[in-house]
Amino acid sequence: MAPGRAAGGKKIKKMPDINEIAKVCSTCGNCLYSCPVYNAELEEPNSPRGKVNLIKSLMDGRLETNRLNKKFIYQCLLCGSCTDTCPKGVEFVDMMVKYRNLISSGKKIPLLKKLILIFYQSFLFRKFIPVVDLLAKTPLRKKLSLPIRRKTKLKKLLTPAKKGGSYDILLFPGCVLTYFYPVLIEKIVEFLKGRGFSVVVPKNLQCCGFPYISQGWQKKFSALKKKNRKIFSAFNFKYLLVPCSTGLLAFDNYYGFGHTVEKYELTEFIYKFAKDAPVKLEIPGEKKSKITYHDPCHDLKLLKIEKEPRFFMKQLGDDFVDDKSALCCGFGGIFSAGFPATAEKILARKEAVLEEIGAGTVVTSCPGCYFRLRENLSRDVKFFIELFPAARGGDGVPSL
Ligand code: SF4
Ligand code: SF4
Repeated sequence: MAPGRAAGGKKIKKMPDINEIAKVCSTCGNCLYSCPVYNAELEEPNSPRGKVNLIKSLMDGRLETNRLNKKFIYQCLLCGSCTDTCPKGVEFVDMMVKYRNLISSGKKIPLLKKLILIFYQSFLFRKFIPVVDLLAKTPLRKKLSLPIRRKTKLKKLLTPAKKGGSYDILLFPGCVLTYFYPVLIEKIVEFLKGRGFSVVVPKNLQCCGFPYISQGWQKKFSALKKKNRKIFSAFNFKYLLVPCSTGLLAFDNYYGFGHTVEKYELTEFIYKFAKDAPVKLEIPGEKKSKITYHDPCHDLKLLKIEKEPRFFMKQLGDDFVDDKSALCCGFGGIFSAGFPATAEKILARKEAVLEEIGAGTVVTSCPGCYFRLRENLSRDVKFFIELFPAARGGDGVPSL
């Protein structure tokens, strides 16, 4: 392939930053042992360094995109663990997202992933949810990692864009909470209102689009972004609250808000506004063992949110045990569907750490991690907001 042409024979239009990012890598290998995929598969092309080298070779034409190379490009959770440990500051996640978009335009996404992405945004998915509820009551629940949903009053909470209005907070709950754990959205709203904030949860919000842009489907992402931005623009609000660090990354990096919108992840928002007010924490249910906090990768490694959840977790005293491993759960959006064997190995490593530190209860603040841990581990898994009694009990919001 001639230099200056992207893999697949497409002319490179204007993406010089991928080369620039890749050039920074000194191939030191510091990132290898922080990478969950490398630790699971133990092969160089599945290490961050291997992938940087692969992208360089594909960009300058020394290698062609073939099935195997494409697999390595997609066999990455975009977790950011490598970026976090890289002494040269290689912006790996951004580079990978840009590269996938450069080579793909939606056409080179692995077929299974593409089918999942199409299904996910179709009306069929909404129709499929009651089927999930039925299947979750059968022995297939464990095999398919299906969530048990509770009936909620979520629909009553949603405000149509045409109503508009001014609020302190616009809550963007994200897909996993909306479709699988809507009761947690109620709890978040309940807590925030109890703290005196006015909150709007707009109706008809779309997926943040990260699953699309991260797989290289720029066009689909742009369509979702346009719809979400239109809905946002119908409301006046001071804070955009996103209880999902991946969604927050999408808004930070790809929505072009600049500094016009003050955006927060859930633990950092509660830390900002509740840290000086006494908050009594409780773990719902019977305490059987130690309680730990699972750091969502995008929180810890890219948004650098670490002290905020610990500020609250430490209030649990000796019941709290800190999981300092920073290990990924293996969810990675649709990564766990595309590479189930690798995802299993990643989760097994996490579970071994939980066993070692004696944590029978795991608290997390990422809906994806919550889904992955709750539906796959035989441990008690809680969403961060459930720690706060104001979001439970006596408020009409049932516990999960
Ligand atoms: S740590 Fe950074 S510089 Fe070193 S090999 Fe990994 S990506 Fe390259
Ligand atoms: S983003 Fe995560 S999975 Fe991908 S190469 Fe880096 S550490 Fe590995």
